[in-house]
Amino acid sequence: MSTSPPEFNVTGIDYAERRHLRYTGPIIDFHAHVMVTRPGDPPTGPPTGKGPGATIEQADAMLDVGQDFGVMQTLTMCPPDDVAPLRERFGHRLEFNAMINKRTANESDDEAFRNLERFLELGVKVVKLWSAPRGRERGLFIDAPWRIEALKRARSAGVRLVMVHVADPDTWFRTVYADAAKFGTKPEQYVGLERMMQLFPDLIWIGAHMAGDSEHPDHLQALLEGYPHFYIDTSATKWQVREVSPRAEAHRTLITRFPDRFLFGTDLVTRHHLTREHYVSRYWCQRTLWESDWVGPSPIADGDYTASEGGPTTPILRGIHLPDDVVEMVYYRNAQRLLNLPTV
Ligand SMILES: [Zn+2]
Repeated sequence: MSTSPPEFNVTGIDYAERRHLRYTGPIIDFHAHVMVTRPGDPPTGPPTGKGPGATIEQADAMLDVGQDFGVMQTLTMCPPDDVAPLRERFGHRLEFNAMINKRTANESDDEAFRNLERFLELGVKVVKLWSAPRGRERGLFIDAPWRIEALKRARSAGVRLVMVHVADPDTWFRTVYADAAKFGTKPEQYVGLERMMQLFPDLIWIGAHMAGDSEHPDHLQALLEGYPHFYIDTSATKWQVREVSPRAEAHRTLITRFPDRFLFGTDLVTRHHLTREHYVSRYWCQRTLWESDWVGPSPIADGDYTASEGGPTTPILRGIHLPDDVVEMVYYRNAQRLLNLPTV
């Protein structure tokens, strides 16, 4: 019988070793999926939101681990039904981000609007336009007419922040998205985003996962320069570890040049059968990547990484060691300002 190491620690690292993490202030996680979980949830993908055994134990475990890393508040995407139980348990530790979405291609615009309406009644501060290429079949174009209408309604209700998922890793455009006629090229993903930022210049736009393009810091710079209302979150840990590390100097320069435009995020998702160490691994790697000069093989398994002959089986994590005042802005001040939260 052989056991392979768990995905959250393939190198057998000691996560209690945190002397390289020098920031001691509060952190806001601007991108996470803290949800109610159930034993019948699929192992990946969105939860069913129905069925027996609903619990917030995973949310409790994740936020508890987060607190250990200094994460005091988290902006979460969850189904509207989850907002009340999560709020009751966690109070001001959570803020909510509403997906403007369709689960199937047949879902009507009205259903999407009704869903949004529920979120708005619950007082969400952010809306999310998930527009990965794999969503095109469901009509999830960032600038689809029903999304433009939904955004106008959200704006009328006082929402000022829009998070967007645009594109995906470069590697995926060579594999899963190789059919460019169906999915579009990677640069084509950004045409709709720029159109939306021009249509809604009064809103703040947040590009999730290093705006989907940590492979090209020069492109991120062009977006930040061209659109003063554009921000970037650092989430999707494996992706950023893999693609920021080899461009450590360029990313350090970029973030230091626009320190008020980046937001710490993990993209952690609560899932019914996860162990605490899974959550630990993402917080540990995110903080290590941005604030430290730690260098070594990433402890997290990464299916998108191709190992070289005889090289490590995971990508090298190379901390970019942001200056102290920049770390404080990225980890806390920028999110606190955008979400209009009292300082802790
Ligand atoms: Zn996410």
